[in-house]
Amino acid sequence: MNKADSFFTSLKDLYAYLELPPADIKVSNSSFSFLVSRHFASKIQKGDLNDPLLHEILPREEENLAVEGFSDDPVGDLESEKEPGILQKYEGRALIEPTPACSLHCRFCFRRGENLRVNTKFVEELEAWLAGSPEIHELILSGGDPLMLSQKAFNSLVQIALQQEPLRTIRIHTRLPISLPSRILKNGKDSHFEALQKIAQTKKLVFVSHVDHPNELDESSKKVFAELKEIGATLLNQTTLLKGVNDSPATLVELSFALFNQGVLPYYLHQLDHATGVAHFEVPDTEALEMMEKVRNALPGYLVPRFVREITGEKSKHPLL
Ligand SMILES: *Cc1c(COP(=O)(O)O)cnc(C)c1O
Ligand code: SF4
Repeated sequence: MNKADSFFTSLKDLYAYLELPPADIKVSNSSFSFLVSRHFASKIQKGDLNDPLLHEILPREEENLAVEGFSDDPVGDLESEKEPGILQKYEGRALIEPTPACSLHCRFCFRRGENLRVNTKFVEELEAWLAGSPEIHELILSGGDPLMLSQKAFNSLVQIALQQEPLRTIRIHTRLPISLPSRILKNGKDSHFEALQKIAQTKKLVFVSHVDHPNELDESSKKVFAELKEIGATLLNQTTLLKGVNDSPATLVELSFALFNQGVLPYYLHQLDHATGVAHFEVPDTEALEMMEKVRNALPGYLVPRFVREITGEKSKHPLL
């Protein structure tokens, strides 16, 4: 695949596409590069510098600020790492990072400071670790974005996971339904659909999309979710609370209804992890809690996401509401 066909890697090209004046570009000097899929970019309103989806991916100058309390390992990933790319923080569940690749670089990402590397021995190491960890009943594929793996790499990962008797559930955390849906669609190019189907036939498949704003959802995401539902996947969504993106009760309520409309239930709303360079996305707890009260009042209980923060050392995500 020619990268330029599917992605913007230059801010100048994105600005030209969005019909924005390039003179307005003042950018961060972060080592976390700029990247966005053309599919995601197509949902940004042209000519609008304040578009919420643009805000998610625009490397602003504010990223350069050193802010107290914001660090490169905000949620204690380093000490939870069992093997390179294998994290266990919670009982019975292990989270793996099989690839550093993403389909877009979300500027608020807590893993942005992590030096994820490609590990060619990953699948063998995982197999050995799982064999010695029979208490693990759920394997969470995270990243990066696990669906950015090549078909070959993803299939070999799935193959060893499906052979592990104690594993009952495979969970996938991904932004591809809204950023690169072709990789999941039944008839998509380089699609992982068959592998996902194999998982769903053998174990429980829990599919957690990451959608932050209702404008991210479209006909393609709807199709992705419908096809996944057909193979028996459980469809959940996580959102990060983000200033300038979704920090209003109306937006959060609309997001819950829009997800439900596509067959997905809201799972978590994450309070921002304090990674270096993300402070400009922070919504203070007091403001967030006031907002969540309004959200809770406006929604049926099953559409209210659990509002949580990850606290290093705690045995589960910490409920804030
Ligand atoms: C969030 C997380 C999980 C999953 O937690 P759930 O509450 O089951 O969704 C598992 N492992 C790690 C390292 C996590 O950060
Ligand atoms: S890991 Fe997820 S949140 Fe972070 S940059 Fe990649 S897609 Fe975005």
